[in-house]
Amino acid sequence: MTIGSDLLQRYSGAMVQVFGQPQLVLATGHGCWVTDVDGKRYLDLLSGIAVNALGHGHPALVQAVAKQAEQAIHISNFFTSEPAILLAERLLAISAAPAGSGVFFANSGTEAIEAAIKLSRRTGRTRLVALEGSFHGRSTGAVALTHKAAYREPFEPLIPDVSFVPPNDEAALSAVIDDRTAALFIEPIQGEAGVREVSADYLRLARELTSRHGALLVLDEIQTGIGRTGRWFAHQAAGIVPDAMTLAKGLAGGVPIGALVTFGRRITGLLAAGQHGTTFGGNPLACAAGLAVLDTIEREDLLGNALRVGSILDDLDSLDVAGVAATRGRGLLRAIELSGTPAPAAMAAAREAGFIVNAVTPTALRLAPPLVISEGELTSFVDALPAILEAARSVT
Ligand SMILES: *Cc1c(COP(=O)(O)O)cnc(C)c1O
Repeated sequence: MTIGSDLLQRYSGAMVQVFGQPQLVLATGHGCWVTDVDGKRYLDLLSGIAVNALGHGHPALVQAVAKQAEQAIHISNFFTSEPAILLAERLLAISAAPAGSGVFFANSGTEAIEAAIKLSRRTGRTRLVALEGSFHGRSTGAVALTHKAAYREPFEPLIPDVSFVPPNDEAALSAVIDDRTAALFIEPIQGEAGVREVSADYLRLARELTSRHGALLVLDEIQTGIGRTGRWFAHQAAGIVPDAMTLAKGLAGGVPIGALVTFGRRITGLLAAGQHGTTFGGNPLACAAGLAVLDTIEREDLLGNALRVGSILDDLDSLDVAGVAATRGRGLLRAIELSGTPAPAAMAAAREAGFIVNAVTPTALRLAPPLVISEGELTSFVDALPAILEAARSVT
């Protein structure tokens, strides 16, 4: 018995089974590579689901966390710290937020969404609109905005007054947004739905309709933000400014953090003292990690790297790889739609070949590698893909 299989057996005896059986027991990571407890190495093309933006063990992040841990890990929100203020200021600067904007720090994406739901209630309205295919998190509030029935229905009744409209259907959006709408929640690219893009025109219409009807436009950039698509935030490609934006995943490079950014004085003023809070949110450790991530993205031009290296996957369509039907996504958030190979089998074959990818739907693989990945590393996967798909077909 390997060390990994022994630990996996003990996992089933010790954990609540919400994740099913994990694929591997990982021990260490360095750059874009992770190593399991039996010493096998994998190229990490998922980075903890778009979290390890700087890869594993980046010295800038390791040093920032170590230094901050020595100084102060946690202080409570009765007090504040320089890293928290600096990170909030940096987030407002890169999101081109107007004067009077603000940041609320939480510990996860779900909590950032939860804060946005409470913000929306302060408009005095309750109706929420989200898109079919949406994923906004797992709390009872966030899951009410999540379209997948299997995530939502076992926990009903959830918060009421949520409607779902098909993405990119302008007529359906125009019909649903009215003067009773509190907020419209949109992911600029729906990651969990299989990396499905919302068009720039649709985002601009969403901006126009919500402004006209006094509803909030909340953009969920938890997966798409912090450089993932080659811009700081995916919505910037559409030239719009939201009323609120949620962040998490890549923001602190793997240290748990979430953030709600509120745009402008009016929106920021909706949540008054005492109306929301958190114990851990905004702690100096997570905020120092966030600052190190943003600094490093800038210093190493990782926005440029995401575009350059990501474009290798643009060519996959034209390479005519047997079993690849299409590719989707931007920068380093991508899906490879397969034909004739179930995605779970392709994921298993990729793992066998030393690559970590994710079967995001039954027919598509998702790639969300560290923003530091090199062309050579991603090309090694593209080169291996035909053999991986062939191996997957031979076992199904
Ligand atoms: C991951 C994700 C969430 C939930 O974040 P957690 O940190 O898992 O709570 C919400 N929205 C989007 C778009 C996500 O990708």
